[in-house]
This record gives sequence, structure tokens and C-alpha cells, in this order.
Amino acid sequence: MRTVAAWLAAASLLCAQPAAAPDVSSRIREEAEKRSQVMKHLHVLADRYGPRLTGSPNYEAAARWAAAQLSAWGLANARLEPWDFGHPGWSNERAAGHFVAPVRDALVFEVMAWTPSTNGAARGQAVLLAPPASPSKDELDAWLQEHTARVKGRIVLLGKPREIPVSFSAVQKRLDDEAVKRRLEARGGPPMRAPAPKPEPGKLSPQQVNAAIDAWLVSSGALVKVLDSGMPHSTIRAFQNRTYDVTKSVPAVYLRNEDYGRAARLIESGEKVEMEFEIVNRTHPGTTTWNVLADIPGSDKPEEVVMIGAHLDSWHAATGATDNATGVAVMMEAVRLIQALQLKPRRTIRIALWSAEEQGLLGSKHHVQANYGTFEQPRPGFENLVAYLNLDSGTGRIRGASVFGPEEAAAMVRAALEAFRDAAVAGAAPSSSRREGGTDSTSFSSAGLPAIGFFQDPIEYFQQTWHTNLDTYERAVPEDLRQASAVIAAVAWHLASSEERLPRFTRETMPAPAHAALPVTQ
Ligand SMILES: [Zn+2]
Repeated sequence: MRTVAAWLAAASLLCAQPAAAPDVSSRIREEAEKRSQVMKHLHVLADRYGPRLTGSPNYEAAARWAAAQLSAWGLANARLEPWDFGHPGWSNERAAGHFVAPVRDALVFEVMAWTPSTNGAARGQAVLLAPPASPSKDELDAWLQEHTARVKGRIVLLGKPREIPVSFSAVQKRLDDEAVKRRLEARGGPPMRAPAPKPEPGKLSPQQVNAAIDAWLVSSGALVKVLDSGMPHSTIRAFQNRTYDVTKSVPAVYLRNEDYGRAARLIESGEKVEMEFEIVNRTHPGTTTWNVLADIPGSDKPEEVVMIGAHLDSWHAATGATDNATGVAVMMEAVRLIQALQLKPRRTIRIALWSAEEQGLLGSKHHVQANYGTFEQPRPGFENLVAYLNLDSGTGRIRGASVFGPEEAAAMVRAALEAFRDAAVAGAAPSSSRREGGTDSTSFSSAGLPAIGFFQDPIEYFQQTWHTNLDTYERAVPEDLRQASAVIAAVAWHLASSEERLPRFTRETMPAPAHAALPVTQ
């Protein structure tokens, strides 16, 4: 870990470097501030094509729209890169749920992706069952057998309601300068979650327990599986049936914590609670999905590529505005800015919009494997990727960058960011992490490729919008997206036009590959 003094010393060294074409950066900023279209892109991505779940018709329509839009701005070779997702598509068309006894009231919920429709209106008694915590196979089998008679024709609330006390602490929406500095000094890779603890010997993993319970609910004839959203203020975070096979689950929903708690308390006080759900889902045959790519060809080194990207897919509970239509809108606006100013980079600037990030960075991993390989097993294109720039942390303005590479690489990015010091951008720090997980930049850095991840003000991201029913256009901050568009355009321009290439790790300095991959996606 570096000290503040060391960081400031490193930052001041930059004054010795040539300025990063300040006229271009200020022209980009002016275009971004005065004639921005970033909110227009966001509107189309979120309002017209959201949610963009991988494999859904909405995703494909968004991909086709993006490619057509990039072509219309004069980018070359706008294309859909097909790859095999391995699962059919899925979408929800209608969903309604109600308490019908002892009270009549609408329920607030989201459907679990890749689960089946109800057969018309599914009405039944609600039962609350709390499976044993970390059971052995025998313990779980005994519990399932004991409760089989209670689930046939029932609506099954699975697990005790989560109690969420009223919070008295304010949410910090912007990082203060000290926090940004600490983040740069930490110089790690992307923030990671702790790995899930391994089950004790003889105990089932949570995934094994879930799979056994799902199979039991299907075979026992349960009507609907209901999970507690476990978040306050009607916020619901929704994911998928991990088998991606609708025959392996009963219809399943995440109910808002407030309705789940109300149902649980009524059941506890001896009332017979009845609910009704009517859910229409569709599966879409075919397992092909597409990344979107387009180029601003380089003038004298077209084979060298500076790539900018974000994931186009989203979860399905809302319109995927801050995860990650904002990242896509910023990247599209960045290439539009370069085109609008008729800038001709020396190296190719390529935009890449990924599918299936949310299911495990799958689109970007496919692209890296197919085109670049890894440092240890490179494909011919490996040397040609100068940098990959990624944005995927919500709507907040950019505060700094993490550069997979040596200190000289971070210094070059810092020089490009210098023009944005008065726009709250603090600098860049090197990273040597090859851990995979978090977001698409790690598909590149884990392969040993020079990825640049940007960190942003949090605004309401992890607290409210990330993967939730609240992830809508309204939660975007226009001035922050204008700032991010200009920053990305300027850094991409600088890396694509400077005399020197972005320095890379060498054979001697390349960190060893990380093997403990954690599939936590942003
Ligand atoms: Zn994301």
C-alpha cells in the first residue's frame, strides 16, 4: 500500500510528461457539455428496450439498435458478434399477485427469471416453511418428507422474513476527496466480495439445498414459490433459476419484504392466509446471443486497438438503467463525440457492448478467448489490444481509474485524466490483480490484457438500484453522465493517438493468473 506522500510525489512527476493534447480534451468537454446526447441514448436503452435480459427479444432489439446507431454516426464495421449462451431466452409478460384472504390487497413482487408461468390464476393457501440451515443430505431429505403433505396446491413462502430495522444513518452519494485518494492508494483490482464459505464436510452447499427444494416443490405440486426480497422500502432484487430450465422450478417470485412480513405475521397469529398469482412468462428458443462491436479505424496503426466497452444486458426487475444502460450510453456518446469532432485517431478505437455479463461475464469472456487468448496462451491478436476501458458502476461521475499494468501505464492514464482534475477526477493507480469477477474489465485483466476500470461516485447504486425494481431512467444523473462521456472519449483518444503505446507488464513482471474466480457480477 502506498502512502499519501508517495502518491502525491508520483502525481507531481506527471508535470514532467508532455500534456495530453489539451486542445482535444477541451474540445471533447465542450461538445459533451453543450451538445450531449447521452440522455437520449439512455432513454432508448432503458425506456424502449429495457429490461435487456440476455436471450430476450428486448436484448436482441437493443443490440440491433445500437449497431444501427453506431453505423449512422459513421463507425465502420458495426456488427453483431454471435456466440452460444447455452440457454434459451426468457421474458416476463404479465404478473399480478394478491392477498385474497383474510385481507384483499395487491402484492408487490418480481418474477424469478427462467421460471415457468402459472396455469392461469394460481390461488391457494399460503404456508411458511423454514428449511433447516446447512443440513446434511439425510437431514434435508427427512425435512422434505415431513413437509410434503403441506405444499401440494399451496403457495409456499420459503424462509423466515428478514427483519430490517429503520436506518438512522445517511447514505453517502458522493465520495469525498479523501475516500477517492484512499481508493487510488489501495491500488487493487475491482472490489470483491468474500468467497462463499465452503460447506462443512457432510453438509450440503446452499446451491445443493436450493436444487433439492426446487425439485421437491415441482414433484410435490406446489403452486408458487415465494421468496422474501429482504430489502427495505419495497426494493426487490431479482435473479434467476440457476438451471435456466423452466421445467426444474415451480413459478417463483421475490415478494417485497413488507408483504412477506405481513403474510408471515398473519400466519403466525393463526389466520388462514390465501394468495393468488397470475404470471405469464415466455421462453424463446435458440441459444445464440450477440456482443455488439464497431470501429473508428486508426489512420496509421489500424491493427492496434483501444477498446471501450460496457455490458448491454441487464437483469429484468426494472429497465436496467444504471446497470448498465448508463455505461452503454456513456460509451456510445464517447464515440459519438469523437465522430462529431471529426477526430482521426492513429490507432483503431473500438466500442464493444457485451451480452450475458450478469450471468458471469460470459460475452466478454467469449470475446477475449476467441480474439486474444491469455498471456500464457496468446492468440495472434494478443499484442494488438492496447487497452480496454470499462464502465459499470452506475450513474456516478468518474473519480479515478485502476489500470492493470505497471506504474508507467497508470502514469500515462493519469496524464490523460489531468484535463479533468477540475471535474472531480483524481487520477489513476496501477493494479496487478488478475482476479476474475465483478465486471467485464476482469475478463481482460484475468487474461493478462491491459484493462482500465473506472470508479465512480456511488450515488444510489448498491443501496437502491443495482439489480432491483428501482433501476430506472429517473435514477440517472445527467451531468455525471456528460462528465463520464467526456472522460472516456478523452482517455480513448489519448491512448489511440499518442506516440507511445500504453506500457504493459513484461514476461518478467506479469502477475501469475488467479485461480480463485468469484462470479459476483456488477
Ligand atoms: Zn453491471
